Amino acid sequence: LFIAFEGGDGAGKSTQAARLAETLETRGLTVLRTREPGGTPIGEKLRSLVLDHGHGHIDAHTEALIFAASRAAHASQVIRPALARGEVVLTDRYIDSSVAYQGAGRDLGADAVRTLNEWATSGLQPDLTVLLDVHPADGRRRRTAGDAAEDRLESEADEFHSTIRGAFLDLAAGRPETYLVLPADLPVNELAARILTRVYAVLAS
Ligand code: C5P
Repeated sequence: LFIAFEGGDGAGKSTQAARLAETLETRGLTVLRTREPGGTPIGEKLRSLVLDHGHGHIDAHTEALIFAASRAAHASQVIRPALARGEVVLTDRYIDSSVAYQGAGRDLGADAVRTLNEWATSGLQPDLTVLLDVHPADGRRRRTAGDAAEDRLESEADEFHSTIRGAFLDLAAGRPETYLVLPADLPVNELAARILTRVYAVLAS
């Protein structure tokens, strides 16, 4: 079972992925939690290349290719092997993040970015995508409430984050059967419960 958590910055994806992992593990499943960009040694290097301030301007095509390269390594070295071992894989971000951030946010076009990433992952798709829909202002508040400084992409204007949000919602609307869309401002426990209900339904199908 392959589940992707998607949504804007500050949506609470990693909190929910951690909660779900914990619950599934107590029920005897082996869970692999991972994230993008990153997830492999080369992926973590690519992550800092594209997210750290200080590399100067990175043009949109370069940015898209770096994310796709990180994802290619992640899919082949981490996700596919874990799925082959029968594990549940929970990833914090996957292809939809690129379609939203680079396709819509950077104006490269959803179709081009999707094609690039389907090639990079040899077509590996999640069984379920959990979209935590966050209002850009809420996302900003949650990010800046933490200690960590904003990364290069997070520090984009709210307008950029509104575009991303719309792109995620469009993706979900096009594939309701493989999406669970939840407002990110629901209480943490309620989000966790709703996600679990849907995951059990997928496991039973
Ligand atoms: O998931 P996390 O917040 O750590 O993501 C790291 C950063 O990478 C975020 O700022 C996100 O906006 C950005 N990102 C991106 N394009 C992707 C994936 C992530 O711009 N395809």
